[in-house]
Amino acid sequence: MAFDFDLYVIGAGSGGVRAARFAAGFGAKVAVAESRYLGGTCVNVGCVPKKLLVYGAHFAEDFEQSSGFGWTLGEAQFDWATLIANKDREINRLNGIYRNLLVNSGVTLHEGHAKIVDPNTVEINGERHTAKNILIATGGWPQIPEIPGHEHAISSNQAFFLKELPKRVLVVGGGYIAVEFAGIFHGLGAQTTLLYRGELFLRGFDGAVRKHLQEELTKRGMDLQFNSDIERIDKQPDGSLKVTLKDGRELEADCVFYATGRRPMLDNLGLENTGVKLDKKDFIEVDEQFQTAEPSILALGDVIGRVQLTPVALAEGMAVARRLFRPEQYRPVDYKMIPTAVFSLPNIGTVGLSEEDAREAGHEVVIYESRFRPMKLTLTECQERTLMKLVVDAKTDKVLGCHMVGPDAGEIVQGLAIALKAGATKRDFDETIGVHPTAAEEFVTMRSPVAG
Ligand code: FAD
Ligand code: NDP
Repeated sequence: MAFDFDLYVIGAGSGGVRAARFAAGFGAKVAVAESRYLGGTCVNVGCVPKKLLVYGAHFAEDFEQSSGFGWTLGEAQFDWATLIANKDREINRLNGIYRNLLVNSGVTLHEGHAKIVDPNTVEINGERHTAKNILIATGGWPQIPEIPGHEHAISSNQAFFLKELPKRVLVVGGGYIAVEFAGIFHGLGAQTTLLYRGELFLRGFDGAVRKHLQEELTKRGMDLQFNSDIERIDKQPDGSLKVTLKDGRELEADCVFYATGRRPMLDNLGLENTGVKLDKKDFIEVDEQFQTAEPSILALGDVIGRVQLTPVALAEGMAVARRLFRPEQYRPVDYKMIPTAVFSLPNIGTVGLSEEDAREAGHEVVIYESRFRPMKLTLTECQERTLMKLVVDAKTDKVLGCHMVGPDAGEIVQGLAIALKAGATKRDFDETIGVHPTAAEEFVTMRSPVAG
């Protein structure tokens, strides 16, 4: 049977665009459908605007610290509307770039909501298109628990478009988004509380990293409330929100921001017309080659719920394009040693195993740790400290994990990730000459273990 397309991609986000462009580059006839915004979550309501807001929030510290270097500034004033308008302009520019990337690589772009009507047919804007393969790359969506008054809360989707900076913000959750946005609001001057249901936020990260960030945020005056959860939210006559916690305490806020994870975006996608199966958490189930239970349908990115990061979706997109149209170049995605950063203030950068996970996996470990005041701060009043940590296998000397909390941690860890991926040992680190004077050089000068 002749199909209209070799590949029909649903979703022009990180993974979908990568798969579509490379498939077209390999000579396939490709279409991509997008219902909302070109570039997907990362470009529009994720990584990119978030990082711009983090940069914006960081200026508060820069202004404060500049006096130690002899600068006298007038009273700093911040205008949220300007930041948001400039951010929107930049995102519009990126949307245009994504459009050009797709069109110039020969991909047919359909703008509208796509629904699968049978395993080889997609319906969009009242038209049907057939395809030999359909790729579901529809991403995720914020999930807010349905407590009484949840309709008064916002998610990251709305946070990027608030008309004004709320005076008092309550951020709920202890993952990436909660920690990053608490830093943004706090840095920009809002009175910020971070509320997390567990003992300590950032579950899954190295224990020393979690504790260090807790101390740093507390030093900066952020209100951290752990072992706390919301029972209900009530809107007051003056528009403010009364938040009642499960332990009976009451808090007041102008904005309650939930960052409690993301669900797969499957709304009105037509999966009932296919044999596609979901896993226990309701994400699309795929095998190691991104094949769903329906032979003609593949899925990747946030919608499969493996690792919800843009570079992972990109790698999966590449793998799918190769698997379908350049099988001789196919390489499976390697999910080990994925570096990641949390753009909190200060940043976290991490790659490899946490000390806890390394021990749990049966490694006998040697731990190296360094805590110091960054050089830039020595002329200032700021008491912020940086943490660097190496988790080393005692038997093989291999570095199992690198962890950092401090300025530019994400930038520093990217390079270390290459070393770990290549199997670097502690001896390789020791024999590497540092770049002086930098914070990063500390990773190659840690000599004495702190714990074995
Ligand atoms: P998406 O990028 O979500 O793209 C899916 C696309 O499909 C969307 O454009 C959607 O509109 C479209 N779509 C959905 N249903 C349909 C349909 N039926 N028809 C047509 N189109 C449809 N990751 C990082 O690596 N670093 C970060 O700093 C980072 N920061 C983040 C900050 C926030 C606030 C959030 C929410 C996420 C962040 N992420 C970050 C995660 C990253 O954005 C995602 O992992 C990545 O975007 C996933 O890509 P994807 O292709 O799977 O889906
Ligand atoms: P995460 O999964 O990272 O964190 C969710 C948090 O919400 C956890 O602390 C979780 O607690 C808590 N939680 C979950 N359900 C509830 C509930 N019902 N009530 C109270 N608390 C709850 O999700 P995010 O929303 O922060 O981000 C989604 C994903 O996007 C991230 O996992 C990451 O992959 C990606 N992302 C990446 C970024 C980056 O690379 N810098 C930045 C932002 C997002 P518990 O731990 O107890 O389960």
